[in-house]
Amino acid sequence: MPTGLHVAYERDPTEHVNLVSSIPFALVHLAPLAMIWTGVTWRDVILCAVLYQVRMFFITAGYHRYFSHHSYTLNRFWQLVLAFGGTTAVQKGPLWWAALHRDHHRYADTPYDIHSPLKGLWWSHVGWILCDKYSATRFDRIPDFARFPELRWLNKYNWVGPWTLAVATFLAFGLRGLVVGFFLSTVLLWHGTFLVNSAAHVFGRRRYVTHDSSRNSLLIALVTSGEGWHNNHHYVQSSARQGFFWWEIDLTYYTLVALRCVGVVHDLRRPPKRLLRANLVCDGFDVGMFDTYIARAGGILSSASDQLSDTYDHARKGVATSIASAVSTAEDLAREAKTRPA
Ligand SMILES: [Zn+2]
Ligand SMILES: [Zn+2]
Repeated sequence: MPTGLHVAYERDPTEHVNLVSSIPFALVHLAPLAMIWTGVTWRDVILCAVLYQVRMFFITAGYHRYFSHHSYTLNRFWQLVLAFGGTTAVQKGPLWWAALHRDHHRYADTPYDIHSPLKGLWWSHVGWILCDKYSATRFDRIPDFARFPELRWLNKYNWVGPWTLAVATFLAFGLRGLVVGFFLSTVLLWHGTFLVNSAAHVFGRRRYVTHDSSRNSLLIALVTSGEGWHNNHHYVQSSARQGFFWWEIDLTYYTLVALRCVGVVHDLRRPPKRLLRANLVCDGFDVGMFDTYIARAGGILSSASDQLSDTYDHARKGVATSIASAVSTAEDLAREAKTRPA
């Protein structure tokens, strides 16, 4: 049975990377190299770790668990704080992010899933972000939050957050702080977040039967403050707690519990107890992985059929050329025989 990383779905012709608009993305990746000249101190490394961790929280607790899934409630002020904090992670606006993420759950691992690894691991990790097709906000997917004018403003001017943070970092910590604290932590933060779209659908274990290939991975959970329990999350999407058991470390949830204690967060949703021991992969048929295997097998068959068809075309052209050349030689010989004196 095919279990590798073979591409299952051919991408739509409109799904391709725009190299020109990807230049800023590439430049941000190059910016941390400036540390060769600026040098690095422990203070810069700590700043980098703090900015990574705090901004990861804004993405996981804010963009993901709150704006995408309503897994707890906040008042309008804290909602705005969470949205602004999320923009500093340089992952565009909260409405853009959450609307696309809702589509991921709606179409997970089907041809309509924007970043399924079944379209290619590299595509699911970063390719789709560099594609113009998905740059607009699908307001129809997120009318519940699009009704707030302050969120629409932040979504439109989502560059304000990152620029504010970058300038503040530079003023407070100098060029080294900017290079290591802001740029390096931004690159690490990007790829930490992207792992949930790519690796968390390929590597790890499945506990629950879901209609997709989502996995649970401790490593990804540690890097993403708890988002690595992705199979749990696909199983009960509305739960603010993604590490369902005490041993499943979920830093975002612990922080949300602390914020509930001080009255910032309310109505934290947890997975219903009856679901925790139900629909286990080990007890029955895993339809999600079955569909994934079928899709990957379809991809292999389709590319094998393309290769076969290419080989056939090549062979057919070769035979036709040989026949044409033989006919021409025969005609030449016949002409020569006619003109030769008897
Ligand atoms: Zn989600
Ligand atoms: Zn997923």
